[in-house]
Amino acid sequence: MAEKTLFQKIANGEIPSEMVYEDDQCFAFRDINPQAPTHILICPRKPIPSLDDITEDDGELVGHLSLVATRIAAEEGLTNGYRTVYNCGEHGQQSVPHLHLHLIGGRQLNWPPG
Ligand code: AMP
Repeated sequence: MAEKTLFQKIANGEIPSEMVYEDDQCFAFRDINPQAPTHILICPRKPIPSLDDITEDDGELVGHLSLVATRIAAEEGLTNGYRTVYNCGEHGQQSVPHLHLHLIGGRQLNWPPG
């Protein structure tokens, strides 16, 4: 069996986290190194390594992650906006090889991100 990813270990409680949302397709928890007052990671239960690895079959799942991000943003009171980001691969500075959508908000964000 494949080694569990860091985020699978978070999903099953092997690694502690502050979980903010869970359903049968995904889970969301606060980033351990927040870049803004709200910084939440939304992950599919399916351990897709990165955005580069999604297929046509994952379309609904990836749409679901965005929908969940909007719900959490509302719950977090991010009425002035927020940012969602998939880091992908080396140039995208992805550090955990389990697909995750960053939800970042609660302060004025800058662009370009660097
Ligand atoms: P990325 O660099 O896009 O792959 O994002 C990985 C994110 O996971 C980073 O923002 C880390 O701060 C976050 N992270 C790593 N380990 C943990 C953990 N144990 N609990 C919560 N967030 C984590």
